[in-house]
Amino acid sequence: MIPIEHCIRKTPDTRSATIIMDVYWLNKKADLRLQRGSGIRRRINALLTGAAHRLRTSWVPGFPRHLILDVFSSCGLHCPICPQGRQEIPRKPSVLDPDLFRTILDCFGPYLYTLTLTNWGEPLRYPHLVELVEYARKWSVYIGFSTNLQTFSRDRIERLLETDIDEIGCSIDGATEPTYQKYRVGGSFSNAIDRMTYLVRRRNELGRRTPKIRWQVLLNCHTEKEIDLIIETGRSIGVDSIVFVPIYVDIAGLFVRTPRERFDRDRDWLPLDSGMSWYNYETGLLKHSPAICDKLWDTMVIHPDGAVSPCCGVIDPQHDFGRITPGRLNGLSLFNNTSYRTARRMIRSGRRLDSGLVCSHCVTHGVLIY
Ligand code: SF4
Repeated sequence: MIPIEHCIRKTPDTRSATIIMDVYWLNKKADLRLQRGSGIRRRINALLTGAAHRLRTSWVPGFPRHLILDVFSSCGLHCPICPQGRQEIPRKPSVLDPDLFRTILDCFGPYLYTLTLTNWGEPLRYPHLVELVEYARKWSVYIGFSTNLQTFSRDRIERLLETDIDEIGCSIDGATEPTYQKYRVGGSFSNAIDRMTYLVRRRNELGRRTPKIRWQVLLNCHTEKEIDLIIETGRSIGVDSIVFVPIYVDIAGLFVRTPRERFDRDRDWLPLDSGMSWYNYETGLLKHSPAICDKLWDTMVIHPDGAVSPCCGVIDPQHDFGRITPGRLNGLSLFNNTSYRTARRMIRSGRRLDSGLVCSHCVTHGVLIY
């Protein structure tokens, strides 16, 4: 955690490196409460899955600690290099069935540390959002989501604030309408800023410490010029933190095009300052790639239709690792089905044991960061 004053004093060059790695904490009282739950089952599960991860076992004697549960499959915007905005997600539109989220949470809820209600969709469009958060509150899981704030009902926000949800990420790329419009096509900057301001104000009026309000900014060739203005605006609104997220190129092409082809497809969107990018501008490759994929041992992604993916970049149904339907769910056997076990073995050995499995891409090209 780096205090903002410290970041601002850095020279532009070193600040670029800092922007990639760190969150600007504007509110010194902000805390993540990731460990809010002290349930014995959660702790034992974390010990078991942590040990499996360290030993790289293909069978994990526990449940995922982090769940990304996409609740609504569309978002309403047309962001030019997002697979959702480009309509490149080859999955039928769907909305999470309330019976399905009860099935999922009854199984995984006691073991979770974090529950994220966004992947490629817009959670504020989901009609059962408040109901879901209230249901998940049975367990001490840290709950949050990201939103573009374009769908906003003050009545629903009041009810959401009453659920004591932990964190809301506001995706607003820029500090001015023209910059915002370049990427968030179909959205309104003034609506997004007004609504983020409203969230902060209402939370404070209610005397609550949560939700923490995080301003998320994708670093592209336009937003890179407004970093100082974004920090200044965030400070005046009173958000708790600002996260600058380097942009990813061609996510829909992750497993069908080479890294270089993907880079060339979207390179015009990357910041001019390569220090603000994940990519090496000479090679078109990621500058860093983790040695091992943690996600296979501690995270699960579930789409609104119940399909299961090993990580959030997997968008094609042909790469699904399973499917959940309402009713009884054996989470342990799902998290250890043939796809999961083979993927863990592949990543551990560095060999493409099953080239039809999506993780074989990461064996060849390096594990993805996101
Ligand atoms: S596709 Fe890559 S990043 Fe995703 S779970 Fe598999 S190994 Fe990990």
